[in-house]
Amino acid sequence: MSSTPLSWVAAELAGLAESHLLRTRREVTPLPGGRCEIDGRTLIDFSSNDYLGLSLDPRLQAAAIAATEQYGTGSRASALVSGRTVCHALLEEQLARFEHQQAAVLFPTGYAANLGVIPALVGPGDVVFCERLNHASLVDGCRASRARLQIFRSDRLDRLRTGLIRAKDAPRRLIVTDGVFSMDGTLAPLRPLCQFAREHRAMLLVDEAHGTGVHGRNGRGACEAAGCEGDQVTVRIGTLSKAIGSLGGFAVCSQELADWLWNRCRTQLFSTALPPASCAAASRALELIEQEPERRQQLNTLAKELTGLLTSAGISTTSTGGPIIPLIAGSAERAMAISDALATRGFLAPAIRPPTVPQGSSRLRISLSAAHSLDDVRQLAAELCDVWKAS
Ligand SMILES: *Cc1c(COP(=O)(O)O)cnc(C)c1O
Repeated sequence: MSSTPLSWVAAELAGLAESHLLRTRREVTPLPGGRCEIDGRTLIDFSSNDYLGLSLDPRLQAAAIAATEQYGTGSRASALVSGRTVCHALLEEQLARFEHQQAAVLFPTGYAANLGVIPALVGPGDVVFCERLNHASLVDGCRASRARLQIFRSDRLDRLRTGLIRAKDAPRRLIVTDGVFSMDGTLAPLRPLCQFAREHRAMLLVDEAHGTGVHGRNGRGACEAAGCEGDQVTVRIGTLSKAIGSLGGFAVCSQELADWLWNRCRTQLFSTALPPASCAAASRALELIEQEPERRQQLNTLAKELTGLLTSAGISTTSTGGPIIPLIAGSAERAMAISDALATRGFLAPAIRPPTVPQGSSRLRISLSAAHSLDDVRQLAAELCDVWKAS
């Protein structure tokens, strides 16, 4: 066989398949009640980030349709040129109010928010401290900034302190963390991080992708849950695509910093504004998050029930509360086998493998939604106990 410039691709793909790391794709139809349909079968869906069950809410759909009819499907230009409609402006205002901050800046996605904001805060000569479990978009944002990158661990904060002291002569220092670590279901130690930031004159960025709408009394996220609000956190990043049920990213901060972000974030300046429909749906979702706290309560009830049932069956989770309940299976092969067995029984619970998680810690990642019932969760626990022991 003659070799071509792309011959390496086949070899790489074969290597992935052999180590059970090959990603495949399929079509999924979301259904109400925390369900979905795959290949003509209905499954109870424990895989989505639709924590509050809002993505199929008819009220969000109606808002999106009305905005589409009035303003069109695409926004036609970047926000600063002519893509920013009244839907965008209202959503920014509403996000700032909801988050108790002066201003909000919208981005095409949460990924784009991190990739844009971090390089706007630090650059060459500065130091950025990045938690080792942080989401890939935070890591990519840190790398893109070209600031000196230091990885820290939340369970070894003494090392972060040492790093901050050593970096005291750098023009700027930035601490970057997820509020909720999405593959472990644990919360960042935000109180000590705020204290470090204050003591060492560092900026602090918290990504609330899995916190917004879910954690904190009013759903403002891990920062609210930890009592770290106001100006203790320099900038909070969020996504409209998880509990909010739409698409888009945002940053909330002081008006002054927002003015800077509008001028500096390349992923905002050089990308088309969100579709008006996404903004209108997100606006409606924020109202519902405020008006229907019972969704958050339902999520808590379900999480307690499931962790209780699993723990008493001897299956432990890394989760410390909240809707993300990971169960460490070990090898990628075992995690896949458990996930496949559950799918046969009508439950969609994905296996998470390297490189998303470290070697040897492949896991089943269950994520709950307020659209699930207690009965759904009890059925899952029963089947899971069965499958887990047989694997
Ligand atoms: C999902 C996620 C993002 C990316 O958000 P998108 O809007 O989906 O691009 C960023 N950070 C964290 C922690 C996430 O989990």
